Amino acid sequence: MPARCEATNARGEPCGMAPLQGTSQCWAHNPSRGEARALARKRGGRNRRVALAIDPPTDAPRLRDVGAIQRQLEDAVYNTLRLANSPTRSRTIGYLLGFALRALEVGELEARLGALESQLPSPSPWRTA
Ligand SMILES: [Zn+2]
Repeated sequence: MPARCEATNARGEPCGMAPLQGTSQCWAHNPSRGEARALARKRGGRNRRVALAIDPPTDAPRLRDVGAIQRQLEDAVYNTLRLANSPTRSRTIGYLLGFALRALEVGELEARLGALESQLPSPSPWRTA
């Protein structure tokens, strides 16, 4: 029977990994490997970090009209498409497209309402101010 690490895992069960040569503990439990483990964790965290947005804006976006909101959504979709494919990326794109569709609807309603209002006699009897 091959030797197993003498340490226990978080659940209190035997570790089960092969011990390092000449020791009774595995790579994860051997105290002399602490520095190497810390370095590996650091490297893993760095590699998982999400890339920054392309050309991050210097000013806060102004979302005062449908066109401005559509531009932000287009940028967000573009930036999201540049990320590695994943279920989260797909979900995010789905959300953004839903918002984009809503912005199209609002923009069309705005245009139609503007066209109707332009045909009303001026000043509009519907306006109180
Ligand atoms: Zn172990």
